[in-house]
Amino acid sequence: MIPRRPVSGDRAGFLYCPPYRVQGISIGGEHTVVQVPELDVVFDLGSAPRFAISATVAAISHGHMDHVGGIPYWFSQRNFQKMPEGRLVCPKPLAGPLQRMMEQWVDVEQQRTPFQIDGMSPGDEIDLKPSVFLKAIQMSHAVPALGYVALERRSKLRPELVGQSQQALKERRLAGETITYDMQIPLVAYTGDTDMHPGLLCDEFVKAPLILTECTFFDEEHRDRARIGRHLHMRDLAGLLEAWEARDVVLLHVSRRTPLEAAKAALRDLVGEAQAKRVHFLMDHRANRARWDEQRESAVDA
Ligand SMILES: [Zn+2]
Ligand SMILES: [Zn+2]
Repeated sequence: MIPRRPVSGDRAGFLYCPPYRVQGISIGGEHTVVQVPELDVVFDLGSAPRFAISATVAAISHGHMDHVGGIPYWFSQRNFQKMPEGRLVCPKPLAGPLQRMMEQWVDVEQQRTPFQIDGMSPGDEIDLKPSVFLKAIQMSHAVPALGYVALERRSKLRPELVGQSQQALKERRLAGETITYDMQIPLVAYTGDTDMHPGLLCDEFVKAPLILTECTFFDEEHRDRARIGRHLHMRDLAGLLEAWEARDVVLLHVSRRTPLEAAKAALRDLVGEAQAKRVHFLMDHRANRARWDEQRESAVDA
């Protein structure tokens, strides 16, 4: 008899929800790290796998270890790979403790890793790209917690001017008139860990076409556990699916205690086939691979 091989590590989940890739690892209580390369952002750093290093902004939802354990390694790897200093944003009460943690690493490593850590309050915004910004949204968890929404700024022609000739518009502009107004279009929303909270039903969340949401518990007997741990239960998700207009909803933070197939079946029974079709489990490697194969085939056919 030879000893058994160790269980293989957590493989990164991958989903393509056009135009966004969602790649990450998320298991409730163990680690959550989810990157959207098109937005150059990684949500939470429960660990810092290779794919997460390239994001220049890390948006941390709260201070539990399964969401912050990879922070020093993330800053350090970016430095080691000669990337520009990473920027990390987090709930305001967490910024001081994280800065002190990074300072302590100087003694441990006998070298200084550059870092930028900024505390955010609900409603605060930071730029991700020239016309895209990240907005912090209040959530509710056992510790201070934020969700985030990436939004695009678009300037649109004022409705009463639609149909006017280019020349007429130019004349108005030259006369000093403001002919456009600014719109903010939600792109991707991320809940972090949270209990039910009005933040989940704010306009930015309701209108986001892609939502990355925690849903830790699925068993009927686990409803109390969800409330005690300040997490979402499948029954909460069912209500949110009614409110959210998102075409794609990606589930994160599913407890390892719940077998994936059981969670999927329970959700289908609760919300019905049509609603369940909008929902993807990030760690459902087999289904996500099949979905991607289908996407690839239809792209070839087109
Ligand atoms: Zn967590
Ligand atoms: Zn947590």
